[in-house]
Amino acid sequence: MPKTLIEPFRIKSVEPIRMTSREERVRLLEEARLNVFKLRAEDVLIDWLTDSGTGAMSSRQWGAIMEGDESYAGARSFYRLEAVIRKITGMLHFVPTHQGRAAEKVLFTATCKKGDLVPNNCHFDTTRANLEYIGVEAVDLVIPEGLQPSLVHPFKGNIDLARVEAVLKSDAHRIPFGMITVTNNTGGGQPVSMANIRAYARLLKQYGKPFIIDVCRFAENAMFIKMREPGYEDASIAEIAAEMFSYADGATMSAKKDGMVNMGGFIVLRDDTWMDDVRNALIMTEGYPTYGGMAGRDLEALAVGLEEGLDEDYLRYRLRTAEYLGEKLEAAGIGFVKPTGGHAVYLDARTVLPNMPVEHYPAWALCNALYLEGGIRGVEIGSVMFGKRLDDGTETFHKMELVRLAFPRRMYTQSHFDYAAEVIDEVKARAAAIRGVKIVKQPKFLRHFTADFAWVD
Ligand SMILES: *Cc1c(COP(=O)(O)O)cnc(C)c1O
Repeated sequence: MPKTLIEPFRIKSVEPIRMTSREERVRLLEEARLNVFKLRAEDVLIDWLTDSGTGAMSSRQWGAIMEGDESYAGARSFYRLEAVIRKITGMLHFVPTHQGRAAEKVLFTATCKKGDLVPNNCHFDTTRANLEYIGVEAVDLVIPEGLQPSLVHPFKGNIDLARVEAVLKSDAHRIPFGMITVTNNTGGGQPVSMANIRAYARLLKQYGKPFIIDVCRFAENAMFIKMREPGYEDASIAEIAAEMFSYADGATMSAKKDGMVNMGGFIVLRDDTWMDDVRNALIMTEGYPTYGGMAGRDLEALAVGLEEGLDEDYLRYRLRTAEYLGEKLEAAGIGFVKPTGGHAVYLDARTVLPNMPVEHYPAWALCNALYLEGGIRGVEIGSVMFGKRLDDGTETFHKMELVRLAFPRRMYTQSHFDYAAEVIDEVKARAAAIRGVKIVKQPKFLRHFTADFAWVD
């Protein structure tokens, strides 16, 4: 068997990407106030800002688009998608939403109240925001291994069951349900094991608490289970996913991830306890329950995408791609979060810029350097994103300085990854010339999206 793992698709439609010169990129980045969020996408060669809604649809999905039934109520497209979702999840009740955060908002509005507490391995930022908005405490209880970037562990997304039990004991009356996120996006796209999901579900049941899974990357998580968890080697991805869902009472989904579409999301629930409240909240903000926030054609594309996302050849290629870049980084002596996760590789900026003071935002500086060197756009996950400027003018800093390179699905080929590895290598070779930045203008919240920067002299 040849060792090279090829993309399990061929290309039917292409979209040119634009090469720019270094001089142009210097100018473009200056115009963007040294903030890659403000670049125009057409000025980026390889866009690894996010894997969310950025992937390529298949010819079957584009074909399905034409089948969309745009009826307001009772559209054929709804029933087609409902059948697919019931088959994959085993859950009876399904409502579409326009994306994942809308599913969260609708479910939490229907089920949570001020003063509640929700445990999770790590809440994704929109999940946390939607809970906190209602006045719910969002508690992250990932295992300690999940917080150590260079430590290798097969399931760094697992939840710490002892700590879950402790909060169930002390705060049961405040807990409307327990949650877990697969894969753990905030924790580096790291998977959760079946054993952990099963034990967590059992624990919640003992305390009479429902179990909700954030299933944005359920297919990637299932593939990790197949590759890493004894006993699942011969199970199909659909079987593994079905077992994961069998332990849950409900799930929220951003279809922009393993749904393989550019926009969409949904809620599924096993029984109808919460359904009246969910439907009412849905109608208020998303739409009638047979379309939620989605067009009929998008429901069709999702029905196809969910099935394609479970394809083992695709998933093997997907996870291998991140691992492949990781191997190249390892050989070049560049640190990253290990092992590589499902959808992204997280560079440890400290290993490229060990002497840059944190006040000069080394991960932001590395992010800028990747663009200047090779037109690659990643995202800083460091002290710009998670630090704060306090009222007295001083700053708080994040414990890690990472640059996330997140990979759109079915979009970039192996040669793009080879190119990126070369660019990263080159950046490391020129590290002494990389300049830090200072913030010259920033909003009070979520400053990384819109802040203006200048070079440190
Ligand atoms: C993307 C994401 C969400 C939110 O979904 P959107 O479609 O971006 O609103 C929620 N949870 C996780 C784990 C995600 O990755």
